[in-house]
Amino acid sequence: MLILGLTKTTLLDYPEHVATTLFTGGCNFRCPYCHNRALILQDSTMQPLSEDEVFSFLLRRQHVLSGVCITGGEPTLHPDLPDLIQRIRALGYLVKLDTNGTNPQMLRTLLQDGLIDYCAMDIKNAPEKYAMTVGSHGNGEALLDLSAVEESVQTLLCQHKIPYEFRTTVVEELHSAADFLAIARWIAGAHAYYLQSFVDSTGVLTPGFHAPSAESMQSYADLCRPYIPNTNIRG
Ligand code: SF4
Repeated sequence: MLILGLTKTTLLDYPEHVATTLFTGGCNFRCPYCHNRALILQDSTMQPLSEDEVFSFLLRRQHVLSGVCITGGEPTLHPDLPDLIQRIRALGYLVKLDTNGTNPQMLRTLLQDGLIDYCAMDIKNAPEKYAMTVGSHGNGEALLDLSAVEESVQTLLCQHKIPYEFRTTVVEELHSAADFLAIARWIAGAHAYYLQSFVDSTGVLTPGFHAPSAESMQSYADLCRPYIPNTNIRG
């Protein structure tokens, strides 16, 4: 399992839990506004952590932390993710998974085997703008097959085992009111939906994007609430 980073303590990554966050390397998307450039490109500056290092840390912090958030990159790209989670759970930790939803088979396995306690899935944009938002377009033609993402959306909507959220990083140049209406209709009835504003940083894959205004964020959330009452702005 390629673990390229660890945040020792976070109050933000796992709702209502003091957690640690593990960052897996690599991603199958190239969202131009992604702030994890080094992580997704597996930059040589990133030093992999051994599982021994990770687990000796988790053992030491057992009485301080209650959860582990596994994020990326895209964690479900790693076939040994279930094994890693089993070892984490054996220490008594709750596990939250962050995913872009492109591996519905892995998501189903994790749910069926009771390996995750919370899931946060990205909804990058309205279906017709998905390809451009995840960096999978060329010559004006969408190159992304959205069926896997669709399948993950349905998997989460139809299960009642664990709490989950959908979330969108909102970028001024990529999202409009019409997009949020399309997203809200797509994931209508979801347990929770979070809009989080893009934050610029030096690690952004393609510089030049901007955060939307607070008024735009509010109006987008208002558009979604008739479809997902538990729509919130995060951050
Ligand atoms: S934003 Fe998430 S899904 Fe997109 S490239 Fe970055 S890690 Fe991958």
